[in-house]
Amino acid sequence: FVFNRLSRASAELRVRVRELETLNSTARRLGASLELQPLVEAVARETLAAIPAADILALTHRGSGGGDRLLVDCLDRERDAFERVHVDRGQGAAGHVMATGQTLTIADLAASELDLGPGSTGVRSWLGVPIVMYGTCDGVLAVQSRRPRAFGDRDRRLLESIALQVASALQNAHLYEMAMVDGLTGLFVRRYFDTRLAEEVERARRYDQPFSMIMMDIDDFKHLNDSHGHVVGDRVLRAVAAVVSRQMRGVDTAARYGGEEIAIILPRTDLVSAYSQAERIRAAIAEIRFAVEPVVPEVVAPSVAPPGGPPSSVFGVTASFGIAAFPESEAADAEDLVRRADRALYRAKKMGKNRVELYWADHDASGAVRSVS
Ligand code: GH3
Ligand code: MG
Ligand code: MG
Repeated sequence: FVFNRLSRASAELRVRVRELETLNSTARRLGASLELQPLVEAVARETLAAIPAADILALTHRGSGGGDRLLVDCLDRERDAFERVHVDRGQGAAGHVMATGQTLTIADLAASELDLGPGSTGVRSWLGVPIVMYGTCDGVLAVQSRRPRAFGDRDRRLLESIALQVASALQNAHLYEMAMVDGLTGLFVRRYFDTRLAEEVERARRYDQPFSMIMMDIDDFKHLNDSHGHVVGDRVLRAVAAVVSRQMRGVDTAARYGGEEIAIILPRTDLVSAYSQAERIRAAIAEIRFAVEPVVPEVVAPSVAPPGGPPSSVFGVTASFGIAAFPESEAADAEDLVRRADRALYRAKKMGKNRVELYWADHDASGAVRSVS
């Protein structure tokens, strides 16, 4: 009898040790990433590895945009493929878990009135646990199987422990993103840019991969603020940032470098290609039109105002650009490269604004830059 008890206890202990090992490795892998996308992928792979009965892993979370829609990232074990769908809050079984904050097991979906929403045909059983952070349910970690009754108590316990770790990892990723992304423009902040630029200089040196950077500054922005107000100024800044984002390639990094200055890193791009890219951005910005009600000075008596109210005014905006390439500019380091791009920008301003200037290394004694054409 004693032997029997002991051997059962030791078998349970072995299972528990395996669970703890899984959790330990999951914690380490999740802790390795502060960026949301790699984190989501790590969560999906680790969870599928921990729960062999699962065919599909689905992580429902806020993503980086916020708002009322949620993202569902799914990983199919067999196809080893990720798929992403958008759902409204409160939809399907995951919505139920979020509303109640409780783990939900559906032994057989065929006999349940809850459905899983789009892209879940063939799924028979479902186990979802809430991802809770500071008392609010931020998402759902769910495993799905094509077999009914695939998940047991052990799976539930394990998934709940993983979800605790996912909650803090997701929270860290969101905080990181909040710290690195500028709230007004959606571009990166300067601190992130500086880090990326130093990395890019290092890469250029090590792998002999030249790159370029653009420094741009909105023209006469002070005047724009004065005549239309700061709220309109902010709107203009957001629109300019949106144009920059739209014109960029996936590998480029754009940041709000100062008040109305935007800096862009263009990996593997020489001075001439950077010029055409900056020129495209410049032209696109010059095409934006804004319509605002003009600011009517309060001292103006109503009788003086034109009949039918003040006319709405339509205006545009322009920006100037300076470009420096590495190592072409002979910059000593990242900071020096920014200085050189700034010098080219200064020249663009002096030559009449709404234009792109390049920094050339073969400058004259005064350190001036010469223009491209
Ligand atoms: P220049 O063509 O020489 O660049 O002239 P400028 O008036 O744009 O001069 P400068 O670049 O020195 O001025 C920056 C102005 O941008 C000062 C500040 O009032 C305004 N500004 C900076 N950040 C913001 C912001 O976040 N919102 C708004 N509305 N204005 C900003
Ligand atoms: Mg300016
Ligand atoms: Mg400025």
